[in-house]
Amino acid sequence: MTQVKNLPCWACGITYKDCAAQKATLAGRAMETHHFWTEDAFTGEGGGLGGIYWVRVMSDHKDFDWKGSGFDVNDPTTYKYFVDSVYNLQVLCSACHRAAKPVLHWLASKQDPNRGNLVWPANAGSIGIHHANYPVYRDQRHSRPDTPPFQTELTEHIAVPPVKMRLADDQAAEQAMKTPLYGHQLLAAIPQRIPVRT
Ligand SMILES: [Zn+2]
Repeated sequence: MTQVKNLPCWACGITYKDCAAQKATLAGRAMETHHFWTEDAFTGEGGGLGGIYWVRVMSDHKDFDWKGSGFDVNDPTTYKYFVDSVYNLQVLCSACHRAAKPVLHWLASKQDPNRGNLVWPANAGSIGIHHANYPVYRDQRHSRPDTPPFQTELTEHIAVPPVKMRLADDQAAEQAMKTPLYGHQLLAAIPQRIPVRT
């Protein structure tokens, strides 16, 4: 979604290609996806029933292919087929996803080609969905660049943690070579230790 399709951040419009082009100045800005309707943290993560009343979710989202996807309401190990589906993932940049306090909008002081070339002020801010209240998060998508409701006291782009990310395994390292995560420093995977039974 972020790298192959180059889909924009739902809130601020930055893309993977933008992150790549501006990697020197946009430290820590990377493309991510957010579990929008249901979060792993509340679903039991395959290990139990979790806290989601799935009948309600299924009723709210009739467009999702509940049968064909492999989802089975009686089998928690299949909840991922909804949770990690394109249907449930929203593309956001690291700032609009995880910034705990407003950080500089990626186009602060610049024209926004996707919003009539209006110019964002130097203190235009972005904040993450994990920390903003819902109206603030939502309205970042609808802000007028010339009079945005959200500002920051920062004067330079700061990295939204984690700036350093450890790769999970060799496969993740191989993928990172093909599709680098701009703005982050990737650390080598720690070799997995398999416990020996005696
Ligand atoms: Zn964003």
